[in-house]
Amino acid sequence: MIKKQALERWSVQDAADLYNIQSWGIGYFDISPKGNVVVTPFPNNRDVAVDLTEVIAGIRDRGYEMPVLLRIENILDSQIRTMHETFRAKMKEFEYKGAFRGVFPIKVNQQQQVVEEIARFGEQYHHGLEAGSKAELIAALSLLRDREACLICNGYKDEEFVDLGLYATKMGVKCFFVLEMPSELSLVLERSRVLGIQPLIGVRIKLSTQAGGHWTDSGGDRSIFGLSATQVVEVVDTLKEHNMLHCLQLLHYHLGSQIPNIRDLRFAVLEACRVYAGLVTEGAPMGYLDLGGGLAVDYDGSHTNYTNSRNYTLDEYCADIIDTIMTTLDDDAIAHPVIITESGRATVAYYSILLFNVLDVSRFEAPELPDGPDKDDPEIIANLFEVRDVLSLKNLQECYNDAMYYRDEARQLFKHGQLTLRQRSLAEKIFWHIILRVARELKNLKFVPKDLKHLPEALADIYYCNFSVFQSLPDAWAIDHLFPIMPIHRLDEMPVKQATLADITCDCDGKIDRFIDIHGVKRTLPLHELRDDEEYYLGAFLVGAYQETLGDLHNLLGDTNVVSIRISEDGDFSFVREVDGDSVADVLSYVEYVPKNMLEDFRKMAEQAVRDKRITPQERGRIVSAYADGLRGYTYFER
Ligand SMILES: *Cc1c(COP(=O)(O)O)cnc(C)c1O
Repeated sequence: MIKKQALERWSVQDAADLYNIQSWGIGYFDISPKGNVVVTPFPNNRDVAVDLTEVIAGIRDRGYEMPVLLRIENILDSQIRTMHETFRAKMKEFEYKGAFRGVFPIKVNQQQQVVEEIARFGEQYHHGLEAGSKAELIAALSLLRDREACLICNGYKDEEFVDLGLYATKMGVKCFFVLEMPSELSLVLERSRVLGIQPLIGVRIKLSTQAGGHWTDSGGDRSIFGLSATQVVEVVDTLKEHNMLHCLQLLHYHLGSQIPNIRDLRFAVLEACRVYAGLVTEGAPMGYLDLGGGLAVDYDGSHTNYTNSRNYTLDEYCADIIDTIMTTLDDDAIAHPVIITESGRATVAYYSILLFNVLDVSRFEAPELPDGPDKDDPEIIANLFEVRDVLSLKNLQECYNDAMYYRDEARQLFKHGQLTLRQRSLAEKIFWHIILRVARELKNLKFVPKDLKHLPEALADIYYCNFSVFQSLPDAWAIDHLFPIMPIHRLDEMPVKQATLADITCDCDGKIDRFIDIHGVKRTLPLHELRDDEEYYLGAFLVGAYQETLGDLHNLLGDTNVVSIRISEDGDFSFVREVDGDSVADVLSYVEYVPKNMLEDFRKMAEQAVRDKRITPQERGRIVSAYADGLRGYTYFER
């Protein structure tokens, strides 16, 4: 990427193109003329732009340390609004007779503040919630006030779960039990008889449609959830036997998350419509068609059917769904159902950014070398110097091979006691000097030999960053998911370094070495040189979905500080919610330590040291308070 001649001036538009921010940012993020990343939360008014460096200054002023998870509430609201307005507009255009009801699947981000904001803002659109477990149902019941909104109960249900759902129904909540397994029906019927409450029942079906993507095992024949066609018929028969067929009102499927190809989405709706029509023919009232999640996020901005992208717009998604439903059901003169979608990822991904600072850099730099071998140097050193001296554009591969050969030999000689530590060090220095020169010359080659292709990334700088991949970007670690990552300032300067990122866990998996690219995946990220007197901040964007509760306490690095801002129409912003990240005492108590006892034990140890005259009583005071401060402190690197 950095092939621009130094003569050409670097502009912020070059930075925007390099990081592709205008594509994956879908209008929410851009770069200011000053070279800072700005948030532009109002699609209709791009003049309102909040500078992320100012937000960071505000965060620091309030005493919060990096890393910080920043939530921009306006973006969440905007995503909900856009989804409903797009469905409404398309329904009007196609003269669709049913309505749209979105629900948010709590598992995608269970944080109270997130679900609360969705329920609050979503009320005007009757946006509901989806619960996949008892705990999620209990959370949903505390937040959902709107009686027009749907509460969809998926997941395996026990008696307690079913009873709670039935009580909710009795209180007027539109609470659907979606049968995931045939055995659930008898429980629902039994509890409904005992409590005297009529349930709203839905069935989840397995589709034969299989979709491409990372997360799509939940769809298809082999999926663990959902009923087969035969089981659906059995449900209908059982309901008929009990005179309860009027309770069957909803059909649900979930193809999987992040479906990149619109063709798969279309086939799934089509197949579900056939089942829906079949159920209507059987005499079920129906009325609701719940298409599950799957609406993808274009993380790399490539607009392709690559796993981290999607080859369709929201407009096309809505239009395809409505069109497919109408063409299928109109044939049989079946009334248009209320369309429900359970979009989680697309609803919340955009609104969180993980902000972190860079702590240090490990550079690959050409080592200083003497002019040539000393007369006492062993032959191997002379050989390596010779490779250095003959290296040219014409013999890169040959010199690379020779350098590798002599380096290995030097290591062998060292093992056998025939090279001193200093001589081995010199051999390695000459080796790295050669490799770096080979890597630099590569850009002047028309065809890069296969062996040498990966040299530049192997020689990339490592930027040590103040966060934990395991805690804050678990999908980047577990399933190689790509998030857009970039500097949030200095974008008016050309980034001259190629880097990979390491987190502070010092675990060899605690790194990021795959980055978004419109043509596949980049192995290094262009970054700026660090400056001595200034923090360098990076942002990992689009991290609002699935990352927060999957994270683990690897190396006991805990939850980060969380700050939510709301931006006003005049471009001001206010800090509306703050959640302190875990303290060291917090994370230790998660793994059953008792911080109070720990402090006590440490105090005893210090007292013993006083008695042994290793420390003075004054020193004891200072040492014990340092320990106590450590317990109270943030688990991340504090400046
Ligand atoms: C996970 C899940 C969703 C959310 O899917 P997204 O792709 O994030 O929109 C919706 N419904 C069910 C049943 C799920 O399990």
